Amino acid sequence: MSRARPTVTAAATAFLAGFVTLAAQTPITAPSNKYSVADDVKLGQQAAQEVRQQMPIMHDDAVNGYLADIGDRLVAAIPPEFRHPEFRYSFTGVNLKEINAFALPGGPMFVNRGMMERAHTEGEIAGVMAHELSHVALRHGTAQQSKATPYEVGSVAGAIVGAIVGGGWGQVISQGTQFGLGTAFLRFSREYEKQADILGTHIMARAGYDPRDMANVFKTIEQESGPGGPQWLSDHPNPGNRYDYILREASALHVTNATHDTRAFDQIQSHLRTLPPALSSEEAARNAKRGGNTSPDSRPAARVERPSSQYRTFQEGGVFRVQVPDNWQELPGNNVVTFAPQGAYGSVNGTSVFTHGVEIGVARNETHDLNTATSELIDSLRQGNPQLRGGSNASRTTVAGQQGLAVQLSNVSEATGGEERIAVYTTLLGDGTLFYVIGVAPSDEFGTYSGTFSKVVRSIQLAR
Ligand SMILES: [Zn+2]
Repeated sequence: MSRARPTVTAAATAFLAGFVTLAAQTPITAPSNKYSVADDVKLGQQAAQEVRQQMPIMHDDAVNGYLADIGDRLVAAIPPEFRHPEFRYSFTGVNLKEINAFALPGGPMFVNRGMMERAHTEGEIAGVMAHELSHVALRHGTAQQSKATPYEVGSVAGAIVGAIVGGGWGQVISQGTQFGLGTAFLRFSREYEKQADILGTHIMARAGYDPRDMANVFKTIEQESGPGGPQWLSDHPNPGNRYDYILREASALHVTNATHDTRAFDQIQSHLRTLPPALSSEEAARNAKRGGNTSPDSRPAARVERPSSQYRTFQEGGVFRVQVPDNWQELPGNNVVTFAPQGAYGSVNGTSVFTHGVEIGVARNETHDLNTATSELIDSLRQGNPQLRGGSNASRTTVAGQQGLAVQLSNVSEATGGEERIAVYTTLLGDGTLFYVIGVAPSDEFGTYSGTFSKVVRSIQLAR
């Protein structure tokens, strides 16, 4: 059953919906942030431009108009203390079938068609949008950058492309794009997740939506996501008891006569059914490649020189020293350095790739637990590498002279189309940051390379 959407302003809607502010609402404080509000706008606009070039944006007035109606209504309901007049909110549909949505600093928001198709009510779409909007209003993208540990180096600007590639977009192991700074704008800490959930419920209630629909949409995302699991939940991890605290907050907010379903929602779902099916992320990436990329590919060569038995030492900032075969080149990135032989690295579809060698980097994690942090790292790898297999076979090992884990995976190389093996080694640094080494080699050469990877891992000396 649907009800007509009220054609009144958000403030009036909130009034009609019978929203009452009670003292029981959980107070929210935006985290400290060393960036300016203008930085949020600038970084977000740059990233949005990349998104518009790389993703299958929907140029459909019905869809974008519908998203803007919900978005404007939610923006008008942001509590005054979190409003930034400089922000430029925009709401754009993406023709991808996976259930996903993301927002960039300063306001640009993108909602996958799959999200609109598989939501059960307009309230559910509003729920995911209110959550994303809360990350923007609380300036979580740049606040997270402000928390960077002393181990993290590199520029925020360098992270932007990574933010896009990280969203299930990169098809290959790529330097510095899948972890650490690379996904900083999209992948948030559990503390920030809880803040976005709570502020999201306040915004929904003030806009006349039922905050319980935010709990409902998280269930929908879990149930409706295809193989590989929900990308959205990987970028927005459950802080624990998510449904319980959302429902508790919702009951404190006392919204009556809230909007769940609307005629506009039914119309947009019927409209989407008349369009050719949405693309999968993989199809879209293939199309983007055919459509001619702005930067020409420099594909790695098929065969490369075997690892030299002579090693040389590299000092990486004040963070660590490592010894690698002396015929490997050093390729620095953000929060990450790759060592690979000549011919084993290049770019495919605008993404840096390597087929032989090691990537060494650091990744922030909230848990300070090696097992959990390692599986989060592998999850983030899997997002950019849909054909990645394995990862449940972690074994204890010594990494950089301390307790660590080793995990083996297999993948299909985007660069060569061949099977490759991936060895992941992890350990925790003193402040809980995850330190990792990822060794990559084609399956038929892995026998040669696995010994080299072990030697490299054993050689690492962490700064104390
Ligand atoms: Zn989130």
